Amino acid sequence: MFNISDVANLLGIKRLTEGNSFNVVCPFCGDTRGKMNFRIVKDGELANTYHCFKCGAHGNMLTLYADLMGICGVDRYKIAIVKLRRRCMRALAAETAMTAASQNDDTDRGGRNSKS
Ligand SMILES: [Zn+2]
Repeated sequence: MFNISDVANLLGIKRLTEGNSFNVVCPFCGDTRGKMNFRIVKDGELANTYHCFKCGAHGNMLTLYADLMGICGVDRYKIAIVKLRRRCMRALAAETAMTAASQNDDTDRGGRNSKS
């Protein structure tokens, strides 16, 4: 499963710190002094929330993705999670493929048929 850190990577958000709670360049107001905080874990539980102490933007990884990708409407979070899942799976699949490249040729789901 992915978390807000993966969403930050997907969206190309620049990190200022690392860890379970990290500061980033605010994608909403552009603050670079660490006012925007992404939190993966809070009190031992997954949080996946963000809050900017400068512009006040806050929410979770779905609102973050939906807002930055311009997804709107009543189904925005549903759309966001579907898209996120797809993109994260693809990123994970690419990673796995790289690390286990020589294991087997099991690239299903892509619908690619190497018949010539
Ligand atoms: Zn901000």
